[in-house]
Amino acid sequence: MENSASAAPATRALATEAVHAGRDDLARLGLHAPPLDLSTTYPSYDAAQEAERIDAFAATGARLDGPPVYARLDNPTTARFETALARLEGAQDAVAFASGMAALTAVLLVRASQGLRHVIAVRPLYGCSDHLLAAGLLGTEVTWTDPAGIAAAIRPDTGLVMVETPANPTLAEVDLAAVRHACGSVPLLVDNTFATPVLQRPLESGARIVLHSATKYLGGHGDVMGGVVACDDEFAGQLRQVRFATGGVLHPMAGYLLLRGLSTLPVRVKAASASAAELASRLRAHPQVTRVHYPRVGGAMVSFEVQGDPREVIAAVRLITPAVSLGSVDTLIQHPASISHRIVAESDRHSAGVSDRLLRLSVGLEDVDDLWGDLHQALSAQTPRSVNHRSSGVRQPSAPAVR
Ligand SMILES: *Cc1c(COP(=O)(O)O)cnc(C)c1O
Repeated sequence: MENSASAAPATRALATEAVHAGRDDLARLGLHAPPLDLSTTYPSYDAAQEAERIDAFAATGARLDGPPVYARLDNPTTARFETALARLEGAQDAVAFASGMAALTAVLLVRASQGLRHVIAVRPLYGCSDHLLAAGLLGTEVTWTDPAGIAAAIRPDTGLVMVETPANPTLAEVDLAAVRHACGSVPLLVDNTFATPVLQRPLESGARIVLHSATKYLGGHGDVMGGVVACDDEFAGQLRQVRFATGGVLHPMAGYLLLRGLSTLPVRVKAASASAAELASRLRAHPQVTRVHYPRVGGAMVSFEVQGDPREVIAAVRLITPAVSLGSVDTLIQHPASISHRIVAESDRHSAGVSDRLLRLSVGLEDVDDLWGDLHQALSAQTPRSVNHRSSGVRQPSAPAVR
């Protein structure tokens, strides 16, 4: 296929790949914007040839040459997004799913289908990833450990080591080279949702599998849900086979929006990261803030702990949106103990460093002084009694000042 990851030149910079990868054939097609293919099925008069193509897919899971037969097998628009994301992560291939959780599910099912049901994972993870592993919904069994305990936790049936760095929601970082070493021959999965390939390319540190909630920075505008796994050709084939059998496909419109989102990923991440670093340093100097987490790798996420009731800060923001999720053009704030990590048992949250006083801020592209103004007034709105007790009332919105 023209559109395969291997067809593109090897030496383009990330910013160039962001706007060109997955689009290399467009000029030859006489197009500028990528075509959006909404077909659920594809006509073919040659059933014998279709049988051969289906057999080939059943053998390796490799992308079919030519039309995809049926939309659960593949989609040309989504394939462009997969190609582009693979290029940005420096991977041979990538496979897209309906959400980040569908992507993680497919990874776990591939390993479980090979008899490798044991997963070693380092907390904290995104709340629902933690839940999926801890609840054993897919028949996986998890050993939680810190990075130093990985090597000792490996068993004959260990199929995966999973880490997030920076981790959701504490922004804790793990040393990928050291973890990779501890994994031996067990594949290392790194959830790279927070850093994005703009700041960190885990495959270069020896990870075998990179996972994204594409819902976050890759889409970047809070209007598309998706997930994607970047990996080698062999594992990608296994993921495609699981995707075909279980049906967690990305809608082509989402594939279109994610490809479009990638083109501005480097500028969005750099601009939002600069504001986040500035806000982190202003937060550190604020008397109501007891602790600020901002990772060495940088990024647009800041977490901080407050003296009073963090829910009062949530109730008091006016420009910033109080909402779960992250990675959008606008700034979002949420309270992990109430929302994103609510599903994780309290004791597990606490031992993973997720304090009840922690707030998670996803910094967008607004003016940094406007953001600080809103954060500052929201922190100051904490009543002295909220330092010890829950507040009763929710403050009424005040009119925003225009400048
Ligand atoms: C949101 C998120 C996920 C789950 O992705 P969905 O697209 O919501 O299914 C996984 N990992 C991290 C780090 C996330 O932030």
